[in-house]
Amino acid sequence: MTEIRALTPGDAFAMLLAGNERFITGRTQHPNQDAVRRAEIAPLQSPFAVLFGCSDSRLAAEIIFDRGLGDLFVVRTAGHVMGPEVLGSIEYGVSVLGCPLVVVLGHDSCGAVAATCAALEEGLAPTGYVRDVVERVTPSVLAARAAGLTRPDEIVDEHIRNTVDLLVDRSRVLADSLAAGRVAVVGLSYRLAEGTARLVADHGLGVPVRTPGVEEEPARPA
Ligand SMILES: [Zn+2]
Repeated sequence: MTEIRALTPGDAFAMLLAGNERFITGRTQHPNQDAVRRAEIAPLQSPFAVLFGCSDSRLAAEIIFDRGLGDLFVVRTAGHVMGPEVLGSIEYGVSVLGCPLVVVLGHDSCGAVAATCAALEEGLAPTGYVRDVVERVTPSVLAARAAGLTRPDEIVDEHIRNTVDLLVDRSRVLADSLAAGRVAVVGLSYRLAEGTARLVADHGLGVPVRTPGVEEEPARPA
């Protein structure tokens, strides 16, 4: 446990990317998924990252980052939209459990982002509580439009960046932990077909990171 406590944000991010690299290349190790690990961490959890991702069934955190029990403190909602319970859960992971890394995980072909684009184009709000999801994705889609971003994957990346910024802006705990260098808050954009996770937002990581298996992001049109 003490070994995990001593991890820096950069260490935690490297561990996460290493697991994703194993997943991409088919060399998964399925660490920390046995009875020994189960017994070892039963008295106390000490995850190395908070993962706040979309609920999409293809985005299962421990699978795509090749981790196991006690590794990730996971919060997921459709379109990684946040409310007080989400913010409280993420703050718990940082301030109580001591996670040095918070990751916002979005992905291509996100249904919540697509539903929001459709609602804005058609001027029709979805029924039920899906409407609340769409309303919370809407500022990101409008920001993407204002920036001239039109491709669905560009809009997704903008939503990830906006979510990271919103987290840091809304949570005093995260802002203070960032200022103290205790945590980094980053955004990863996951590709469903390839299994790759590309860094699209970074608060506090401060180290150059190569994202595995993905080409450099093409330059945005001026
Ligand atoms: Zn999604």
